[in-house]
Amino acid sequence: MLDKFGRDINYLRVSVTDRCNLRCLYCMPKQGLSLIGHDDILRYEEILHIVKIAVPLGFSKIRITGGEPLVRRNILGFVSSLCEIEGLHDIALTTNGILLESYAQALFDAGVKRVNISLDSLQHEKYAYITRGGDLASVLAGIEKAHRVGFVPIKINVVVMKGLNDDEILNFAKITFDRPYRIRFIELMPIGHIGMDHKNRHLSNDFVLEKIRQRYDIHPILEKKKIDGPVRRYKIAGGYGEIGFISSISRHFCQSCNRLRLTADGHLRPCLLSDEDIDLKTPLRSGVKDIELTELIKDVIAKKPMRHDISRGGNPHKKCLKEMSSIGG
Ligand code: SAM
Ligand code: SF4
Repeated sequence: MLDKFGRDINYLRVSVTDRCNLRCLYCMPKQGLSLIGHDDILRYEEILHIVKIAVPLGFSKIRITGGEPLVRRNILGFVSSLCEIEGLHDIALTTNGILLESYAQALFDAGVKRVNISLDSLQHEKYAYITRGGDLASVLAGIEKAHRVGFVPIKINVVVMKGLNDDEILNFAKITFDRPYRIRFIELMPIGHIGMDHKNRHLSNDFVLEKIRQRYDIHPILEKKKIDGPVRRYKIAGGYGEIGFISSISRHFCQSCNRLRLTADGHLRPCLLSDEDIDLKTPLRSGVKDIELTELIKDVIAKKPMRHDISRGGNPHKKCLKEMSSIGG
C-alpha cells in the first residue's frame, strides 16, 4: 500500500521479545531493562493474526527481530507457522548469533532464507566488553553454520563506535575479501537506553568508507533497481563479499523507507526514530473485527512521517525514548 509520500509500504519488522541473552552497551543496561510483563507480550497467534491481516494490504516481507528472537520459547514453531502464510515472499531474521549454531538448520528448513547477525568486534575480550559477557566463539560458529546450511546472503551488522571498535574497521572489511559475507556498517543511533555518550561515540559512515578506501580498491555496486533498502553497497576488487553502509543519521534514507515495526507489546510503529505508535494489542484482545484492525494498520501507514527528525533542527542527538529491544532494530 502506498503512503501519502508515494512509498510502497510492504515490509514489517516484528519484535517477538524484548528479552535478550546479551547486554550490549548501546542497547541495554547491565541489569537488563524492566521487561514487558508476560501478559503484555504479543502471543504468537496474535502476531500471526496481525500478519495475515497485513498481507492483503501489500506486506510481503517480514523480519523477525527483538530483543533476541532466538531466546523466545518455541520460536521455531512460530517461524514455521509464519512461513506457511500465503503471500509472504521473504522471511528474514536478525540475531546476535549466540544461539545460531544450534538453530540455523531448523530455521532454514522452516523457510527462513536470510539472516543478519550482529557482531561489533572480532576480538574476544572486546566483544565480551561491548556485549557485557558475550562469547565471540559462539557467534563465529553460528555464522559458519548459517553459511554451511545455505543462508544467502549472510549479513553481518557492525555498529561502529569511536574509540571502541573503529580500530577494527579494516579487519571487518577484509572478511569480505575472503568470504561471501556482507559486512554492513551501521551508525550508532541515539535511541532508547544508550549507555554511552552518543555524541562522543558516534562516527559517520563517510569516515568508515574513507578509511577502507585508503587501504582497499573499493567500488560502489551499481544497482539497476534498488533492492537492498537503505544500504549503500560496495565491493573490494577481487573480493567475494560486499560492504554496505547504513547511515541512518548522517544520510537518512527516509524517502525510500518501506517498513512498519510491530513492537513486542503489540504496538505498530510508523518510524523507528520517532515515538509515535498505535496500540493493536488492546483492540485485538477485545475482539474487534479484522476490518477494524485493517483500518488501524492503514492509519499507521497514513501517520508515517516524511522523515525522522533526529538529525534535524540542530539537535542531532535527540533521543528516541522507546527501547530498541522492544521495537526491534
Ligand atoms: N538481538 C538481535 C541483534 O542484536 O541482532 C536483534 C535485535 S537488535 C535491537 C537489532 C540491531 O539493532 C542490532 O544489529 C543492533 O546492533 C542494533 N542496535 C541496537 N541499538 C542500537 C543503537 N543505539 N544504534 C544503532 N544500532 C543499534
Ligand atoms: Fe540484545 Fe541485540 Fe540489544 Fe545486543 S543489540 S542487547 S544482542 S537486543
